[in-house]
Amino acid sequence: PVVTRFAPSPTGYLHIGGARTALFNWLYARGRRGHFLLRIEDTDRARSTPEATAAILSGLDWLGLDHDGDVISQFDRAHRHAEIAQQLLAQGAAYKCFAPQEEIAAFREKAKQEGRSTLFQSPWRDASPDTHPDAPFVIRLKTPRDGETVIEDEVQGRVTIRNDQLDDMILLRSDGTPVYMLAVVVDDHDMGVTHVIRGDDHLNNAARQMGIYTAMGWPLPVYAHIPLIHGPDGKKLSKRHGALGVDEYQKLGYPAAGMRNYLARLGWSHGDDEFFTDAQAKEWFDLSGINKAPARLDFKKLENLCGQHIAAGDDAALLHEIDGYLAAAALPALTQAKKDTMLRGMYCLKERSKSFPELLEKAHFILADSPVDMDEKAQKALDPVSRGILVKLTPQLQSVSWTREDLEGAMAEFAQAQGTKFGKIAGPLRAALAGRTVTPSVFDMMLVLGREEAILRIEQAAA
Ligand code: GLU
Repeated sequence: PVVTRFAPSPTGYLHIGGARTALFNWLYARGRRGHFLLRIEDTDRARSTPEATAAILSGLDWLGLDHDGDVISQFDRAHRHAEIAQQLLAQGAAYKCFAPQEEIAAFREKAKQEGRSTLFQSPWRDASPDTHPDAPFVIRLKTPRDGETVIEDEVQGRVTIRNDQLDDMILLRSDGTPVYMLAVVVDDHDMGVTHVIRGDDHLNNAARQMGIYTAMGWPLPVYAHIPLIHGPDGKKLSKRHGALGVDEYQKLGYPAAGMRNYLARLGWSHGDDEFFTDAQAKEWFDLSGINKAPARLDFKKLENLCGQHIAAGDDAALLHEIDGYLAAAALPALTQAKKDTMLRGMYCLKERSKSFPELLEKAHFILADSPVDMDEKAQKALDPVSRGILVKLTPQLQSVSWTREDLEGAMAEFAQAQGTKFGKIAGPLRAALAGRTVTPSVFDMMLVLGREEAILRIEQAAA
């Protein structure tokens, strides 16, 4: 079966580029009844923090990118990595190098000055064990000196690197700790990873990593190195382009489904399809649809897709997500009573809302308690003439059956009797019901609030 993995280094927040890498791996596995694994690459003890691991897990959780099996800690597997280095040594595919650091540094410095290759060729590569001193050593991989390493990459195509440009990489440091490059290969092999989908900043590493696979006689994974994400201006992504951490998008109130759709489109395409469901993305996602050029962030597109996903979302699920948004943004939670009313009104709230803050702004008529607070425009709309009309309206509303049809009929009749048009009454009515002038339709609000609450608000505004 297909096995993919996301292998972040826990050194900060979950970057939007990392989230996209995770999504691609998740989609690829989920669309093929495969497994999607999560490995935390925490071998760099100085830079890895538990907070960063927690942030990565929470970001993936928010995005709904569930992984199979346990979260694997790379650091916990150090003994296994060292074991493989020893095995390569025993096989003669690796060797002990006793060259001191200073000697190597001096060699590089001299080579640089003389304009020669700084690739260090260890004199210990072919030394017999009898000549080994009793001194500290590193274990190096014996890389072939001639020929070339060919990466058949699903995105980059065929990439060829001459072997004489690769030095004998260190596998095990003199203190016995494994290097990162060895850890990645051993873990990917042990985890049964079949497809390595990651940023193209790792393309050069692939050539070195292949050397370890070959020496061990392990089958190579399929490689897909994806171009990085750029800012809207086409330049390398940086803080000045806006939100980079996935948590920031959650705090801005974008729905996870919209974010997934948007991230999937960042560097991958399926014909002209822009808006799609998870089920479609899983079915459609393929490595051949990944673009070779860097993708550019496009916040307009993000908002557009999020609006469509909110409009198409399941009401109860949206409400549940709004709970999560409020918690993430450190805003007060909704009471059960407000949630019940929101659920009744979701059909009109989710129209044309690009984010949860926008939806909640529309829901102000639900979230505000009577007497509702009036913003300036609402106060203006409630001039003495309008208030006089509202006073006359309430008795009429007492006897109308509370359906859209009858309310519309009654309102038209009332306007006519007042010698005016409904449009003239709608403004003050909006203000009375919501304390705002930009709201869902008057009828939607009356229906969602119910007769008692609606009449109470109109009376309070008219008084
Ligand atoms: N830990 C690496 C990173 O965060 C990923 C390594 C890999 O995917 O092979 O960039």
